[in-house]
Amino acid sequence: MNPSDNPLLDHGALMRYDRITPEHVTPAVDALIAAARATIERVATSSEAATWDSVAAPIAAALDALDRTWSTVRHLNAVVSTPALRGAYNANLPKVTAFHADLGQDERLFAKYRAIAASPAFASLSVAQRKVVENELRDFRLGGAELAPADKARFKEVQEALASLSAKFDDNVLDATNAWAYYVDDRSRLAGVPDDVIEQARTEAHAEGREGYKLTLRGPCYVPVMQYADDRSLRAHVHRGYATLASDLGDDPAFDNTALIEQILALRHEEARLLGYASFAEVSLVPKMANTPSEVLAFVRDLGRRARPFAERDYAELRSFARDELGIDDPKASDLAYASEKLRQRRYAFSEQEVKQYFPEDRVLAGLFDLVETIYDVSIAEAPAVTWHPDVRFFQIHDRQGAMVGQFYLDLHAREGKQSGAWMDDAVNRRREGERVQHPVAFLTCNFAPPTRVNGVSRPPLLTHRDVVTMFHEFGHGLHLLLTRVDVPGVSGIEGVEWDAVELPSQIMENWTWEWEVLQRMTRHVDTGAPLPRALFDRMLSAKNFQSGLATLRQVEFALFDMLLHTEYVPGAGGPYADARAVLAAARREVAVVPRPDYDRFMHAFGHVFAGGYAAGYYSYKWAEVLSADAFSVFEEVGVLSPAAGSRFRDEVLARGGSRPALESFIAFRGRPPQLDALLRHNGMTTSS
Ligand SMILES: [Zn+2]
Repeated sequence: MNPSDNPLLDHGALMRYDRITPEHVTPAVDALIAAARATIERVATSSEAATWDSVAAPIAAALDALDRTWSTVRHLNAVVSTPALRGAYNANLPKVTAFHADLGQDERLFAKYRAIAASPAFASLSVAQRKVVENELRDFRLGGAELAPADKARFKEVQEALASLSAKFDDNVLDATNAWAYYVDDRSRLAGVPDDVIEQARTEAHAEGREGYKLTLRGPCYVPVMQYADDRSLRAHVHRGYATLASDLGDDPAFDNTALIEQILALRHEEARLLGYASFAEVSLVPKMANTPSEVLAFVRDLGRRARPFAERDYAELRSFARDELGIDDPKASDLAYASEKLRQRRYAFSEQEVKQYFPEDRVLAGLFDLVETIYDVSIAEAPAVTWHPDVRFFQIHDRQGAMVGQFYLDLHAREGKQSGAWMDDAVNRRREGERVQHPVAFLTCNFAPPTRVNGVSRPPLLTHRDVVTMFHEFGHGLHLLLTRVDVPGVSGIEGVEWDAVELPSQIMENWTWEWEVLQRMTRHVDTGAPLPRALFDRMLSAKNFQSGLATLRQVEFALFDMLLHTEYVPGAGGPYADARAVLAAARREVAVVPRPDYDRFMHAFGHVFAGGYAAGYYSYKWAEVLSADAFSVFEEVGVLSPAAGSRFRDEVLARGGSRPALESFIAFRGRPPQLDALLRHNGMTTSS
């Protein structure tokens, strides 16, 4: 098949999105997987000496072709989905997954990479090339490639069992959530709850042929009920339902995750021992920026210790507010979100509507581009391109000499057939083949409100400040992809960047949305043209740090629990803990300020750690925040619009991608290892202020 028959195979320049139809997907994916398998076969069976050019380069080229096509399909299915496209995506996903799984277990390739690493020529490879080879060897080892045959069989069983137990864990949480309902007959019991939430509850009851209101534990119902329902006993009932989901105290023992938790932990421990590690946490940290479990534990505990006085202050304030203003003398867990929301409104009341008037989308975009052009010394200009929807815009980034740096699509507005949320995805990664450089291309996707027409006049779309933060965040991921100077696939852009460091370039961008100097230039009232008033900005800033002490300690509690679970606890092995619940109790005793009720079984629905990718990795949230806050403090020191600081951040962090360890990049930029202080200061947790 040739590219003129199938636009998904046309990798020459930008994709011709207008020509791609669902019928193109299967033939393109089949052709590329077949070609990649043929390349792998040729490389694996070749008698030629294993070198970068004979092994790594051809495999990278084959993978790049498949990636470019598959990322296009994945993207279109996410932003302009139709039943036919979804069908084509779902039909091909297992083939792509299986291809990558086979590749990761190909022992012939493992031997080739080992031969490259052992050859005299290895020393003359570039830093980025050596990093790729080292990453390959690491991933083969963690995939069990070095195990003796009997152990290898057992390792595979363990992996498969873990996959199905994790899926079952998630299913139980989902099924328990779906099974739970609380019916309210009298609307007055819902006093305080926003009208749209009540209306939805009425619709759900009605759909079951009932009168009244159906409350559920899904976010859009649970969260506002806990925040706004004036009826204390109603909050207590709903809270208990949520906190006992999928546990021994839940409504249906069929959904109890207690045994699954112990099985999952036992299997993870076995996997670690098979690979020669003392604990699962050690395995989890091998490809991450953090080096050892004790380093992570020390980090988490230090953060907890330093946030504690602020959390105690937050909690004392909340208690006295609840007592004095709400008549709740002894607030329970089910009262905290409610009291907290009331206190927040009392203290920082400003309407999101008011703020939005100052953030017309075009002005925000211009402000964002202006910032990036200033600190990174590039120019951003809109350019014509074929896209997948008329609402999508396309931009090019050039350096000041006019040379191409990268390109991106901006798809900002919510519409039917588009997945919710905001994300950055790579369309094309930077790589070099001889003289030819393939420049990176990013997809930047958000779901902001589309332009509206009022009385026949179209109003520019307005963004909330949260939207602005989201856009800056995703654009930061985009810059990581686009400003890379690494030519070697696998470690260019965001590829190969440690998982606990990958949010540094995105989170650092959020800081500029809280800078007065930037906001003045980025805001313009939609009717009056005035910039954001300083008094309003100050209120926004104080609200940002409302109860940050308590919020930090909650994250610390989760992170400590997760880390203790995967270092110090081994199911059935005696030791200091009887079971996972005892580990949770210990973590709480150590750090929590707010007492939890006896019925609290949050662990049983903690999918991040038991079913998602955050096992022995939950600390990453705070870890990355420390990196971004500390990196941003350089800009605070020398000027938030400093091109000098910008070019150093670009050179040492953004441009390097995964070609060297994130810690090295960080130190090269900051001049020392990361410290907590800037994050605490940004969150208003300093004793001096
Ligand atoms: Zn992110």
